[in-house]
Amino acid sequence: MDHSFKSSLSVVIPTYNEEGNIELLYTKLKETIAPLRLEAVEFIFVDDGSQDQSLQIIKKLAAKDTQVKYLSFSRNFGHQLALKAGLDHAKFQGVVSLDADLQHPVELIPEMINKWKSGADVVYSKRKDQGLPWFKRTSSKLFYRLVNSLSQVKLEDGVADFRLLDQKVIIALREYKESNLFIRGIIPSLGFKQEAIEYIPNERFAGETKYSFSKMIRFALTGITSLSAKPLYFSIYFGLFFAMLAFVYSIYAIYVFAFGYETVPGWTSIIASILLIGGIQLIMIGIIGVYLGKVFAQSKQRPHYIVEEKNILND
Ligand code: UDP
Ligand code: MG
Repeated sequence: MDHSFKSSLSVVIPTYNEEGNIELLYTKLKETIAPLRLEAVEFIFVDDGSQDQSLQIIKKLAAKDTQVKYLSFSRNFGHQLALKAGLDHAKFQGVVSLDADLQHPVELIPEMINKWKSGADVVYSKRKDQGLPWFKRTSSKLFYRLVNSLSQVKLEDGVADFRLLDQKVIIALREYKESNLFIRGIIPSLGFKQEAIEYIPNERFAGETKYSFSKMIRFALTGITSLSAKPLYFSIYFGLFFAMLAFVYSIYAIYVFAFGYETVPGWTSIIASILLIGGIQLIMIGIIGVYLGKVFAQSKQRPHYIVEEKNILND
């Protein structure tokens, strides 16, 4: 068997305020990948507008080691776009993406490469639940259940952006030009030969998680609304339900009027129904607004991210 054409590797690392992790991650990556004797390797750090010393540290590494490439954004654009930018610039045959905080075990990369060499085009990783804090575990489970019930694509719980993609998959992915890219949802729908490996995540080595509660909610909303239009149907169902309710209630009101019962000033019921219906309308307008926002963003055709500096070409 000759698989020697699968002999070059790009590693993409979205980095946001990770000054305490970069050097160790780099050392580990070198140690793990050097023995594989690949023909060409590059490490692409995508600095997502860090405010700490991350970029300086990356540049120092790049000055010593030509395998270290970087691009830095003009501001924080978020993890998905940092990842996208890295994938856009990755030029070798296999492309591994992983987080900078050492939660994704670097030691798994050789196994990923083996699976790739024996025919897989996508080697994705599935996190085992052990060792994660309760909140993260539960919120992540909830998120996947919600996304799956609302969209056609089936996402697996615990599958994050730690994976190996063959360059041909990346070429396919580049055709997805949506501005609100949800890479995790798109990859399973691409087809190709996909295989999984399991791992137990490490603790974040240094620094704190960049996913605050509000960022997680936004991430969930992006996921749901970029994979499906189902939530838009909610308004129709809600609307039908309340139209029925209103119909029944008006029959009752007419009955009361016609048979001359005493009509009490029904303040409470009026206020209650106004609030209820008002609330539901606001939710529905919100849902429509999210989609409209996406159409708006897309129609402007703005760049997805702005690169301020780089030592790498994309062609
Ligand atoms: N990250 C990024 N931009 C952001 C937030 C995070 O590039 O706006 C990077 C971060 O540096 C890390 C990865 O995305 O390499 C995952 O972030 P984090 O570890 O904070 O997420 P968690 O593991 O807590 O889900
Ligand atoms: Mg992390």
